[in-house]
Formats: sequence, structure tokens, C-alpha cells
Amino acid sequence: MRIDILTLHPAMFTGPLTESILGRAQEANLVEIHTHDLRDWGIGNYHQVDDEPYGGGAGMVIRVDVVVPAIESIISQAKEESGKWKVDKEKMPYRIYLSARGETLKQEKVESLSAEHDWLLLLCGHYEGIDQRIVEGGWIDEEISIGDYVLTGGELPAMVLIDAVARHIPGVLGKAESAHEESFSSALDRKKEYPHYTRPDDYQGHKVPEVLLSGHHAEIEKWRKDQLS
Ligand code: SAM
Repeated sequence: MRIDILTLHPAMFTGPLTESILGRAQEANLVEIHTHDLRDWGIGNYHQVDDEPYGGGAGMVIRVDVVVPAIESIISQAKEESGKWKVDKEKMPYRIYLSARGETLKQEKVESLSAEHDWLLLLCGHYEGIDQRIVEGGWIDEEISIGDYVLTGGELPAMVLIDAVARHIPGVLGKAESAHEESFSSALDRKKEYPHYTRPDDYQGHKVPEVLLSGHHAEIEKWRKDQLS
């Protein structure tokens, strides 16, 4: 999967995307992530990206005539590149604007994004948000929120979405980290998973449920099923 991120803060992505599982996934060419600085498409000497809202009010709004050229040039540039992850010339990325106004991200959406798309373009907003014509004009396919609260920018939501989606790309998780039987998976009827325990079996009087020590697989399965919520 190729993921392009359009952001005012590309440096925020170092660390979360280069460490651990996502770092290994990129090294293994299972995911290719490109960050793009929106300011590169800014207007004038100061690379202005925002302006005052029509109708007045506090805060600034990211301009349509900055974001649209940025999206278009990222797409055409990606098609010209002959990088590790070649982009089909006929294809378009699935363009997502991370937005508190969007549909709340759920596991089923994560799975469908991973299964149905091999190229995502994520737009991170800032300030009061973006000019709505970017969405209305068809330059965005979907607005996605990561929860009913407001963050300062779309960068953390983009990282959350990438992490959740990448886990479902075949090969990204090792066998020990399988996404098959997890909270919200279809294997667990979209319920929350049962709790886990490991050694020691008695920690300061806090004991592991006895059934888990019994070696009785059918009983353990039943106990785990009963714990789903
Ligand atoms: N005025 C906006 C509102 O009331 O919905 C909030 C703007 S917020 C300060 C700036 C940016 O952060 C947004 O453009 C969006 O990209 C991002 N953002 C904030 N909360 C988010 C959330 N819950 N999910 C996804 N993105 C979010």
C-alpha cells in the first residue's frame, strides 16, 4: 500500500511511522509512506496556506487554492515516480480528510480501507479546518474522524488511521501478533476481547483465573467466550 500524507507538520510523523511494526513494514516494502509539506504549495513569499473565514469568527481556514493544487500535484507526481511502490497510471488514491466532522473510524472501516485500497491520500487539517469546497468539489472521497473530541490537527488522527489500517496488510504483523482474534474483529463477533494473563500465576495475592491453568481447552474456550463484551 502507498500512503501520501498532506500536512503542515511532516516532522510529526517521524517516530510513529519509522519505529516498530510500521517501520519494519516500510523496510519490507509492504507499505510506502510519503509525507508532503502543504506549505510547499503556499501562496506568495510567505507561503501562505490559510486565510480569515468568510462570515467572520475566530481562527483561520486552510485555502482551497492551496490544497487542491497540492493534491493534484501529489497524484501526478506519484504516477511519474518509478519508486518501489509503482502506482497504476489509471488509478486514483482514496482521498481522506481527517476531520472531527467525519464518520467515526471503526474496525470495519479500517478493514475495508485495507482490503479495498492500495493507495491512500490523507489530508491533515489545522486551525479551524479546511475550506469546505475541497470536500464539496470532489477532491476528497471521505471525511473520517477518530472520535468525538477535537484535536489541534489531523496529524495524530492520520497516524492512528495508518497504524490501524497497516496492521491488516498481509505480512505486516508477525504470526505472534495476528489481527485475527482481536477486539472488534469479526472472529469475535465485533465484541471486545477476553482478558489475558501471564506468569506469575499469583502476584501479591492477585491470582490468574483457575480455568486458564487447568489445561482444559474446551473450558478455556468457554471461559474466554463468556468474557467477550
Ligand atoms: N473547527 C473544527 C471543528 O469544530 O470540527 C476543528 C478543527 S481542529 C482544531 C483542526 C484539524 O484537526 C481539523 O481540520 C482536522 O484535520 C483535525 N481534527 C481535529 N479533531 C479531529 C478528530 N476528532 N478526528 C479527525 N481529525 C480531527
